[in-house]
Amino acid sequence: MQKILIVEDEEAIANLIKINLEAEGYQCVCAFDGKTGADLIEEGTFDLILLDIMLPEINGYELLEYVRPMGTPVIFLTAKGSVDDRIKGLKLGADDYIVKPFQIGELIARVEAVLRRYGKAKQKLAFADVEIDVISRTVTKANVPVELTVKEFDLLVELIQNKNVALYRERIYEKVWGEAFMGDTRTLDSHIQRLRKKLGWENYIRTVFRVGYRLEDAT
Ligand code: CA
Repeated sequence: MQKILIVEDEEAIANLIKINLEAEGYQCVCAFDGKTGADLIEEGTFDLILLDIMLPEINGYELLEYVRPMGTPVIFLTAKGSVDDRIKGLKLGADDYIVKPFQIGELIARVEAVLRRYGKAKQKLAFADVEIDVISRTVTKANVPVELTVKEFDLLVELIQNKNVALYRERIYEKVWGEAFMGDTRTLDSHIQRLRKKLGWENYIRTVFRVGYRLEDAT
């Protein structure tokens, strides 16, 4: 199980992040000040660290100095949204930067994107009653195997890795087909239709008007 450290002095925010990441299958540890954060960083081995910038005792920029030699990915999490702060954070070696207030779905998507970049992608993905093994490229629905083509499989992974995010057709096409989108939506749209049908996901894969598609919990 992947372990994530959350260093955030607003306890309500830290706990909200913890609950949501744990629901996604991550193990989380919270530190509510920079000193505790530094101690935990020294002791523990984390797969990723979410780091607030404005913290009591030791701020996020200083904490990043502790983390950098370890090579652990860091996402800054902060209310400081000015361009200068973003540039500073990224220059210091943060992997990404999320400005508060943020949507929890966006945070999860960014966490997963950074982990993937570090080759720490989850081997198994799940959504509703569908489970995917990314290594063996197998899919089951309610434990029954589902046969997908190569592109249908890649499309499904792309949707799940970005669940609750509206994805532009161009972006999906370029990611899954690996070539520039020339404006012809038929290939992508027909793959989406087949995926909906094979998985019974008519209610989960939503069409977003003038944008593309979004995989969404049908609650
Ligand atoms: Ca703070």
